[in-house]
Order: sequence, then structure tokens, then C-alpha cells
Amino acid sequence: VTPSPFLEPGHRTQAGSLAIVSLARDDFDAIRLEQSSGAVDGYAEGATLNTRFGSFPHSTLLDIPWGSQVRASAVDTGSRGRKRRLETTDDDTPVVSQDESGKAPAKKATLASSGFIYILRPSPELWTSSLPHRTQVVYTPDYSYILQRIRARPGTRLIEAGAGSGSFSHASARAVYNGYPKNETDTKGKVFSFEFNEDRFRKMAEEIESHFLTGIVQIQHRDVYRDGFMVDGKSPDATAIFLDLPAPWKALQHLSRRSGSSPLDPKQSAHICTFSPCIEQVSRTVTELRTLGWTDVDMVEISQRRLNVVRERVGVNLPNERGNSQTPADVLEAVTKLRKVNQQNKQFQKAQIAQNKGTAPELMDIDSSAAASETAPAPGKLAPDDDNDKPWMQGTLTHRSESDLKTHTSYLVFAVLPPEWTEEDEERALAKWPCGQ
Ligand code: SAM
Repeated sequence: VTPSPFLEPGHRTQAGSLAIVSLARDDFDAIRLEQSSGAVDGYAEGATLNTRFGSFPHSTLLDIPWGSQVRASAVDTGSRGRKRRLETTDDDTPVVSQDESGKAPAKKATLASSGFIYILRPSPELWTSSLPHRTQVVYTPDYSYILQRIRARPGTRLIEAGAGSGSFSHASARAVYNGYPKNETDTKGKVFSFEFNEDRFRKMAEEIESHFLTGIVQIQHRDVYRDGFMVDGKSPDATAIFLDLPAPWKALQHLSRRSGSSPLDPKQSAHICTFSPCIEQVSRTVTELRTLGWTDVDMVEISQRRLNVVRERVGVNLPNERGNSQTPADVLEAVTKLRKVNQQNKQFQKAQIAQNKGTAPELMDIDSSAAASETAPAPGKLAPDDDNDKPWMQGTLTHRSESDLKTHTSYLVFAVLPPEWTEEDEERALAKWPCGQ
């Protein structure tokens, strides 16, 4: 079995694996890494990720540790799979010369903005931030709370309906995973997922396969209101249930302990969560739960805020080159940083162009010159950073709340269905712990 990158990602990127590209703090893209022959003899070739920060041939993203920062190719390699020879003019601007089809020299290739990206290993959290939305999805603050309340842990058998865009499915797969089942009867942790919409069902089935989650997530095309949760006529023996449906109360009748048709493990308590945006839906669900013998019914709404903690240096000035202290410290610091980044970018671009010409200085040179520029005082003596002047210790710590956190605000209803208790269980219990002794 090829391990799923969500469950056992390994340490390095590899061809065929899903990878999450971080473009900015809250800007993620999911890509599949492709093997390509890479740049040979000045030809840029193969799959290329084109972003607003520049172009990234997949050959530069393969076999590197997850979490690596990758700099853009010095040249915009253009559309996928096209071969173009790179040359430079006197002013070091790369041009694209005649391509294989023998067409006239193409127009100048633009210099990429030479930014960078981070290549991150897939996790349910990052998948939630980058997945293709087919429906509303459950976000991380909600599902992390839900999964612990319904006691999802390695080995748990969990029912989920509907699957929707698969955000919750991935998070629950990781929570219940305790190895791939060896055969059909191997009862390891598993997610039994149900989806009524055929198109979404098919897309989910494809994703499960391409994410190597087969055996951990089993998806059924099913209207659960009508047909319940049995799988191939057998009970999933679930102990955890999550319903993200428009009318969860309509599905509850199929989650009883009726022998022969119960999808629940008869020997253990079942923990349920339903996810509904309106209080009227909550009300109907709670009534139905009570009627069917569920206990410990309660409702929670997750309301999370992200706080950005910063140190504000209002009124703290550093001397400018004339010795005046008029400019705020953080402006000087920003200018110093910008200068450094610009210098690094120029060095990097020059090195890549030289590499294409076959006269590349070692990349190490770039790093060491960048390091040198870090220690050298910048022109105009901006931002002196010695022990007597610790800018990071100046000012007052403050925080601002950020409103951009994505949560699908819904009410979470939780309840517990105790294990089945038969006449025999009662007799056995009485024999073991007789009343009055
Ligand atoms: N929890 C999902 C996620 O995190 O990506 C999103 C679920 S989405 C809000 C609700 C899904 O329930 C839809 O895809 C819809 O097609 C499905 N659905 C609605 N009625 C259903 C039914 N009777 N049986 C099964 N699925 C149903």
C-alpha cells in the first residue's frame, strides 16, 4: 500500500505526491508533483507551477525536505511543457530564441518576479484551506473540537454524512487511522462516508483514491434519510457519528440499536455530532434525539478569534545619517530589510542566468554575500542592530483581532447513546454486584 501523504508523509517531496504550496500566510494551493526532465542545456521543460511570485518548474520542487523555501526560476518558463532555449542579451535580459518547431525567435521572456514559495506536506488543515469547494465545508476550529467530543481516536469506526467537499473526511481519516487494514475483515479505524449527490460522490471517490486513503475512507453513494448507514448489508460497528446534512433529524431513525439493522457497535456508547446553521434545525434534531433515547444532549457554537500580537514602537526613533532622530524605527527597519531582499534577488537572478550560460557561481556565493550584506552597515547607516539597541524589545506589546478566520458558523449538537442493555446483561450485573451488598 502506498501510504497517504496525509497519514505518513515521509520527509521529502516526491513525484506523484500531493503537495501544498504556500504563497502567502493564508493563500495555499494544492498541486500534484510531476516528474519532469528538468532544465537541460538551457531548455526549461516539463510541468511548471506559474504563480504571481514567478515560475517554479516541478524539477525544482522534487526530492527536497517538506517545508523548504523554493525560489522562483529566474526566467518565466511560460506554459507547461513548452521547450524554449534561454539566452541573454547584453543587458542580461533573457530572451527566448528559436524553439524546436523552427519558428522565428520568440519575444523576450519576462524576468520572473523572483519571489519564493514554501512547499508543505499535505495535512487536513492545509487541505481544508486549499481544497476545491463543492459545498460549504467544516473548518478546522469546528472539526478539531467535534473530533475530540465524539471521541475519534486511532481505531475508531466513524460514520460521516454527507461527505460534501471532503474537508471533514480528511480530518477524521487522520484521527481514526491506526494502520491500513490487511483485508476486508480487518476492523481497523475507518471512516464510513455517505454522499447523496452523484457528482460529489464521484469526485470524493477519485480524491480518496488519489490521496491513497482507500481502506481508511469508504464512500457510499446513498440517500441516508431513506436508506440509512449499513454497508453491503453489514454494520459498520460505529461508535462516532458526524451528520452535516440539511435535515439531520431525518437520518436519526437509522442510528437506533434495533438488532439486525443497527450500524452502531452494540457494546459501546455512540457519540454523535450534528452540524446545523439554524436554531430551528437544532430544535428538531434535539427533539428527535430525545425521542430516540439519546442522552447528554447539548449544543455548542464555536466562536474563534485570531489575535495578532505585535510590539508597537510608537515614538521610538533611530538617528538618520545626519544624526536626527525623526524617522520611526520600524520604517528604518523595513527599508533595511527591503534593501537586503532586493540585493539577494539581484544576486539570485544573475546566478541563474549565469547557470544557463554555464558560468554559474556556486549558490553558496549568493548566500554568503547575502550574509555579508546583513552584517555590513547599510548605506545611510539605517537600522543599527547592536546590543545597545534591541529594537525587538522596544515599545509596548499590543494585540489586534483579525476578522479573516474562516469558519462556517453552525450550531453543534452533541449526544450519547448508551450501549445496548439486555435482560442477560442485567442478570449478569446483578450476579456480579448483588443489590444491597
Ligand atoms: N462536511 C462536508 C465537508 O466538510 O466538506 C460538507 C457537507 S455539505 C454541507 C452537505 C452534503 O450533504 C452535501 O454534499 C449534500 O449533497 C449531502 N446530502 C444532503 N442530503 C443528503 C442525504 N439525504 N444523504 C446523503 N447526503 C446528503
